[in-house]
Amino acid sequence: MTKPVFRFAPSPNGRLHLGHAYSALLNDALARRFDGRFLLRIEDIDIARCRPEYERAIYEDLVWLGLEWEKPVRRQAEHFTDYRTAFQTLKGRGLVYPCFCSRKHIADKVEAVEAQRGKAWPRDPDGAPLYPGTCKGLSPEDVAGRISAGEPHTLRIDSEAVRKLFPGPYPFTRFSLDGDEEIVEVDPWRWGDAVIVRKEVPTSYHLSVVVDDALQGVTHVVRGQDLEAATDLHVLLQKLLGLSTPLYHHHGLILDPGGDKLAKSRRSEALFELRARGVSAAEIRQKLGFAPQPTPST
Ligand code: GLU
Repeated sequence: MTKPVFRFAPSPNGRLHLGHAYSALLNDALARRFDGRFLLRIEDIDIARCRPEYERAIYEDLVWLGLEWEKPVRRQAEHFTDYRTAFQTLKGRGLVYPCFCSRKHIADKVEAVEAQRGKAWPRDPDGAPLYPGTCKGLSPEDVAGRISAGEPHTLRIDSEAVRKLFPGPYPFTRFSLDGDEEIVEVDPWRWGDAVIVRKEVPTSYHLSVVVDDALQGVTHVVRGQDLEAATDLHVLLQKLLGLSTPLYHHHGLILDPGGDKLAKSRRSEALFELRARGVSAAEIRQKLGFAPQPTPST
């Protein structure tokens, strides 16, 4: 029987905080409990925000926490060809279309429609307005001309075309830490025509995560509840690309004393800052509910 595969997949765009520590420790603990493998993946497609010093700091913090992972580590920025192959597949099947709109254009358009109709335009689970479809009606000549002129564009899922081909349902297995499993369905349509290839990089978080989980044979995705809604798009992409769907568990988030989610942008105390004021890795493990550091494997 093949071993279950877990992964922790941070983005090197800032220092890790307690929330990351919890996620990494939980993946490691589950891999140990189920005699599985534990992988670390560096999600560095956002070349403007990711930095090598943050990547080095991730390794340093995780080693300090007592974690060990398989090498070599997969670094997404080294695998754009894999993501390109995936979106070419979707393109070839007519399931995506290029979009030249800027965020501002979309916001202005949505605002105008809201004013005209006197009611709110639908939003996706992240609160962004659903794409109003401006570029869907462009003629093939217009699209070809703009692309050959080098106009930056994203690729969006054509949810109408997808729905015709695969109306659903889109099920996946959710598992709890007690070992219970239940089959639930996602609702990809609430994301509208989501972007799956960004303007500045030939992929997106959603596309890379799905391609990598499949290529790395990840069987169990364990990550924070803040990514639960994104699972809609992940299950959809797995179906469209003919990839298997892992089991998912979305864990509760570690909150700061004010009840807010820890975030790099909110300047939440980072692990290295805790370390600098004398907090030990054993204390962190205990505070987060994990056993003391296991003896290193040989
Ligand atoms: N790279 C994502 C993050 O740092 C996590 C992706 C995932 O676990 O699916 O939030």
